[in-house]
Amino acid sequence: MSRTAGCGVGADQGQAQPDPAGLLGQLRGAGLGRPELSPGTAAGLHGQLAAELGQLAGGLPAGTSISVTKYRISRLRVCERFATTTGQGSVVTPELVLGLLADRVFAQVLAGYPLGPDPLQTALRAAQADQDQELLRQWEQLDGTGRATVSDQVGRQSRALQAGWPALPAGALPRLQDQVQIPFAGGRVVLNGRMDLVLGDPAGPTGVCLLDVKSGRRRSDDAGDAGWYALLETLRSGVPPARTGSLYLSGCVLDLDTVTGPLLQQAADRVVRAVAVLVRLALGEQPRTNPGPMCRWCPALPGCEPGRDNGYTRAPAGPDGTERYLDETKPNY
Ligand code: SF4
Repeated sequence: MSRTAGCGVGADQGQAQPDPAGLLGQLRGAGLGRPELSPGTAAGLHGQLAAELGQLAGGLPAGTSISVTKYRISRLRVCERFATTTGQGSVVTPELVLGLLADRVFAQVLAGYPLGPDPLQTALRAAQADQDQELLRQWEQLDGTGRATVSDQVGRQSRALQAGWPALPAGALPRLQDQVQIPFAGGRVVLNGRMDLVLGDPAGPTGVCLLDVKSGRRRSDDAGDAGWYALLETLRSGVPPARTGSLYLSGCVLDLDTVTGPLLQQAADRVVRAVAVLVRLALGEQPRTNPGPMCRWCPALPGCEPGRDNGYTRAPAGPDGTERYLDETKPNY
């Protein structure tokens, strides 16, 4: 069951300081119990994926392999052609840059470092120190309006995070930007993910909690993202995590699901469907179109008849950005 609440329970209750133990309890789902999952859950999911992805990979042209990511799964569901076009010539939007900076801000706060009077500059300096050329390149590409939007949002979200997210107590065992790779079919299909925050010990009594840090608005597919990370953790450690969900920096709000068998199964089925599409595309089939509000932000629109025939015209760049339109387009599966 999904639970939404402001992080820093103490702050919500009117206390002057957010409560570290309360926050850790929220993340671990204290008092909610943990569903009994069969000890063979991880092995069963791995076996199912090995069989189904192995069969699909058998149809791939020689020498090709497929990388599956959260981003690809979610975009393929919106429109295959859009998903295969956005990599080339896609517009750098304020939302995109804000998302990258949000990870930097969160890392600083989690480590207990002050953000100073100018959180944006702190985040950019952290990116520079880490030689994060991608973030710096995208920041450079924004115009003045885009930078002002990002600066304003980074400031607001930093204030909310600092007010609501206390230093976690000992025993939380946090890991940031945890990279996971799960190969199938001899490496011809690889599930790739990077978890913003992993807390806890898979073998411990409270298990692991996974958090995806979101700088944008809430989207209907966020639960799908949370399921994707839960599946990766299950396959990696052999133990399903206890909780998975999102931290919305605007307002410092947590939305967490207790991990159940159906949640993991749904995530595995999404992976299989996405790989089936990617194999079709690798074999040279034309990507299918699925016109919807997203067309207004799609780089393929000028050459896409279904998009134009449905009356869509290019949207002006603005603070709402791509994510809103992604959410409004009905998924094709
Ligand atoms: S314009 Fe619309 S239908 Fe065409 S590729 Fe883009 S999102 Fe898909």
